[in-house]
Amino acid sequence: MKEQLEEIRRRALDELTDGASDQQIEAVRVRVLGRSGELTEVMRGMREVPQAERPAIGQLVNQIKRELEERIEALKLRLRQGALERSLAEARLDVTLPGARVPRGRIHPVTQILERMLDIFVSMGFEVAMTRDVEDDFHNFEALNFPPDHPAREMQDTFLVGGGLLLRSHTSNGQIRVMEERKPPLAVVCPGRCYRRDELSVRASPMFTQIEGFMVDRVGRITMGHLKGVLIEFLRAFYGPETGVRFRSSYFPFTEPSAEVDIHCLLCKGAGCRVCKHTGWTEILGCGMIHPNVLRAVKLDPEEFQGFAFGFGVERPALLKLGVDDMRLFFENDLRFLAQFPSLAGGAA
Ligand SMILES: [Zn+2]
Repeated sequence: MKEQLEEIRRRALDELTDGASDQQIEAVRVRVLGRSGELTEVMRGMREVPQAERPAIGQLVNQIKRELEERIEALKLRLRQGALERSLAEARLDVTLPGARVPRGRIHPVTQILERMLDIFVSMGFEVAMTRDVEDDFHNFEALNFPPDHPAREMQDTFLVGGGLLLRSHTSNGQIRVMEERKPPLAVVCPGRCYRRDELSVRASPMFTQIEGFMVDRVGRITMGHLKGVLIEFLRAFYGPETGVRFRSSYFPFTEPSAEVDIHCLLCKGAGCRVCKHTGWTEILGCGMIHPNVLRAVKLDPEEFQGFAFGFGVERPALLKLGVDDMRLFFENDLRFLAQFPSLAGGAA
């Protein structure tokens, strides 16, 4: 019996070579150590072994069992390590390969210019209020002192959306909306999109961006002088400290007195050129002292309150500032064009 056991051990160890595969190892394990394996068979024959020899045989069986189990465990560990090393070698990371580039988005040039302008007003103490694009006649025209026969109210200028509503033709509705809800003192800028039935061209678009601004307080606290101060400060912060600025008297329904503001032509710096029609000046915004009728429309007594307002388009300054000569480029969503304007550094100047 002892010889039989030694033979089982020798044969098993012969097969459990260093190069044995998973399947070969498993075959040996089942044949020798399995439930009906060779060692189990030997144990079954124990009855025929003389009593005195049984402990020695039992010990030998256990010893062979342990020995083979340890050998199998060691071989399996080797196989696992080998597999891990191979897979690491195959999936080796080449750190010299170029990485996958994540495309970087950009802020639309008109939005960049708008944000820069708003930053300047915020630095002067104005707050920013967004109002609505779809408006009623009262807030877009009537409260702003547009006479019923004013040409701007006609259908060829304004988009009507039905139900007495229209797409606002300017951001001045922001003035009315804010003053209806809050009492002075107020210093607010209302940016937003406006809509007019213009053909899309080099200089005009049916959709454009405006900033409306106004400041209202008790009578005597806010004068035309403050209006000039705020606008000159803004224009020089935006176009540069040397920018020439002039005010010309003008007419708007919602301000009295009214003025238009020109800056020196950015191309010829005031000398005169084709773009400014040899005047040296570019008209840039409209402004004035808020008309008493506008204050009355929002239930403020013009004897008690006074203020100024201004409004201007953002696309034209954006054209001037970015050196672009066709407004259509802003709205055609051609990434080759838009990608030319990486985000501008924040802050004024
Ligand atoms: Zn010029």
